[in-house]
Amino acid sequence: MYYKSTRNSEVNVTSAQAIAQGISEDGGLFVPSELPRLTLDEIKQMGDLSYADRALFVFSKFLTDFTGAEIKYCVDGAYNTKNFDTENIAELSHLFDGTYMLELWHGPTCAFKDMALQILPYLLTTSVKKIGTDKKVVILVATSGDTGKAALEGFKDVEGTSILVFYPEDGVSAMQKKQMTTQDGANVGVCAIKGNFDDAQNGVKAIFTDPATGKELADNGLMFSSANSINWGRLAPQIIYYVSTYAQLIKEQQIDVGEPINIVVPTGNFGNILAGYYAKKMGVPVNKLICASNANNVLTDFINTGVYDRNRAFHTTISPSMDILISSNLERLLYHLSGENDAQIREWFGALAKEGRYEVSDDVKKALSEEFCAGFCDDEQTKATIKEIYDKYSYTCDTHTAVAVKVYEDYKKATGDDTVTVIASTASPYKFSGSVLSAIGVEAGEDEFDKVDKLAEVSKLPIPASLAELKDKAVRFNETIDKADMKKFIFKTLGI
Ligand SMILES: *Cc1c(COP(=O)(O)O)cnc(C)c1O
Repeated sequence: MYYKSTRNSEVNVTSAQAIAQGISEDGGLFVPSELPRLTLDEIKQMGDLSYADRALFVFSKFLTDFTGAEIKYCVDGAYNTKNFDTENIAELSHLFDGTYMLELWHGPTCAFKDMALQILPYLLTTSVKKIGTDKKVVILVATSGDTGKAALEGFKDVEGTSILVFYPEDGVSAMQKKQMTTQDGANVGVCAIKGNFDDAQNGVKAIFTDPATGKELADNGLMFSSANSINWGRLAPQIIYYVSTYAQLIKEQQIDVGEPINIVVPTGNFGNILAGYYAKKMGVPVNKLICASNANNVLTDFINTGVYDRNRAFHTTISPSMDILISSNLERLLYHLSGENDAQIREWFGALAKEGRYEVSDDVKKALSEEFCAGFCDDEQTKATIKEIYDKYSYTCDTHTAVAVKVYEDYKKATGDDTVTVIASTASPYKFSGSVLSAIGVEAGEDEFDKVDKLAEVSKLPIPASLAELKDKAVRFNETIDKADMKKFIFKTLGI
C-alpha cells in the first residue's frame, strides 16, 4: 500500500513517510493508493475482539510497511483503560428507536480527537524511526478547541518530539482554554492568535509548505509534522470506530449482517465524516453519510449545490470546534470523487486560495449527492435540541452532538428514512457546561467549575477526573500574537 498526494498522483510514499511528513510538499494531502476491502464476515468476526484488536486488524491493512509487532505496540499503548474511562473505548449508547449515540469522548481530553491523538504519537515516532531520520519532530497544530488539547496530551514528554499549538483567541470554550493553557510537559508550547481557526490553519499550512522554513529547520536537526486531520495518521484511526461500531451492532443483534446504517457527523474540517466515507468504501454497509453543520454552513451549501464558497460571514457559535469555513479534508474526498484527477484538484484548490470559491463538475455533484446529505442549524435550534433530548430521553449531550441530532431529525422528517442510524457524539457535555446548562434552563454562576458541579447534579453523569483537576491548575501559557507572527513564535520557542 502506497500513499499519493491529492495534488500530484505521481507521488508514491510509504505510510511511515506519509505520517512522518504530515502533508505532501506540493501542499496536497496523502491518500491511500487503493482502499483495502473488508468482507462482511471479517467485520462480523471483529465483534468478538477488543477495541485494540479491532484496530490492529484494520491498521494492518493500511500500514503495510509496519510489522505486526509495531502496530500492536501502537494500538495497545493507545486503546486501554488507563487512557479511556470505558473498556469499550468507543461507547455505543441507545438513544431512541433505531438511533444510537457513538460516544467518542471517553478519552483523556473528553473529545473525539482522543480516538486518533492517543495513537498518533505511537504511529509518528514509529514512522520516524522507520524512515531512518535522526531529526527531532516539531508538531504544529492549529486548533478550533479540541485537537489542541488532545494533541498536547498525546505528545507531552514524548521523546524526540515537541509540540506547538495555536488556537483562536476568542474561538474556544472556557474549559477548552483552561485545558490548553495549563498543559504540562517539557516539550509543549501553546499560543493564542488574533484571528479565527481558518487563520490558524492557513498559517500552519503555509509554514509547513515553505521550503525556506523547512531548510532552516533541517539545518537545526528538526522537521515539521502535523497532528491535524491533514495527517493520514489522524484519519486512519477514525475509520476504525465506524467499522467497530458496525461489528458491535451485529454483535448486539441490533442489525442483520449486511443491513445498511446511516452515519450522522457534526462536521468542521471534514475529517470525521471522511473517515465514515472510507469505512463505507472498505465494505461497511452505509446508506447515507449525513453532514451536520452549525451556522458556518459552507459544507451544507457545497453538498447541496456543488459550489464551495467561503466568502461569507464567519460565525462564532456555541459549537466552536465546528467554526470553520475551510474544510481541509474535503480535498481528499474530491480527489476520490473526481477519479483521482490531481490537475482538477490543483485547479479547484488554487481557486479556493485565490478567490475563496470553486464549483465542482456535474459528475462530482452527482457522486456527492449519492453519498451525502447535509443540513445545518443555528445556536437557538442547537439549544432547543439539547433540551428536547434531555427532557425526552434523560440524555445530556454537548453542543456539537446536538447539531448532529437536530440535522438528523430534520433529515428523518424530510425523507421518512427509518434506516438504523449512528450519530457521532463528539464531546463530553462537560467541555461546554455553560451552554448546556443554559439550554436545559438551569441557572449557574460565572465560575466554570461551579457550572461543572451544577451539570453533574442535573445530568447525573460522572465528572471526568481530567477536567475536575484543572480547577486548581496554574496557567502556564498566556501569550496572544498576531497571525503574521506564528513563525516567529515557533522559532523563538524552538530556540532557533
Ligand atoms: C473537531 C470536532 C468536530 C469536527 O470534526 P471534523 O473532523 O473537524 O469535521 C466536531 N465536534 C467536536 C466536539 C470536535 O472537537
